[in-house]
Amino acid sequence: MPERPLFIRNVEGSRVYYDVLSSKRSFYYTVDMLDLLATGCDCDNHVKGHKHCNHMTDAESAEAAFQQTQHNLSELPVSDEVKRHEAPLNGTRAFSLLR
Ligand SMILES: [Zn+2]
Repeated sequence: MPERPLFIRNVEGSRVYYDVLSSKRSFYYTVDMLDLLATGCDCDNHVKGHKHCNHMTDAESAEAAFQQTQHNLSELPVSDEVKRHEAPLNGTRAFSLLR
């Protein structure tokens, strides 16, 4: 049986999200990222329990490591061009957990 990667980083336009392997290794949760912050996960702990779940923590570490790697790959300053046309953030679903 092939080993599944623990994380898969996905980029769609300005959206970055991670597929994070579940602890049972049978499927992936989707964790939405806003830069280094995880804004949501589709597991029950987050959706029903409004917890900052392990998947979100894991995705945040993975994104931090990824950005560190990118930084190390190139000493060139990152162009602001990357930021043009930022799509609107997806609305109100983030941070209902803060209360
Ligand atoms: Zn989760």
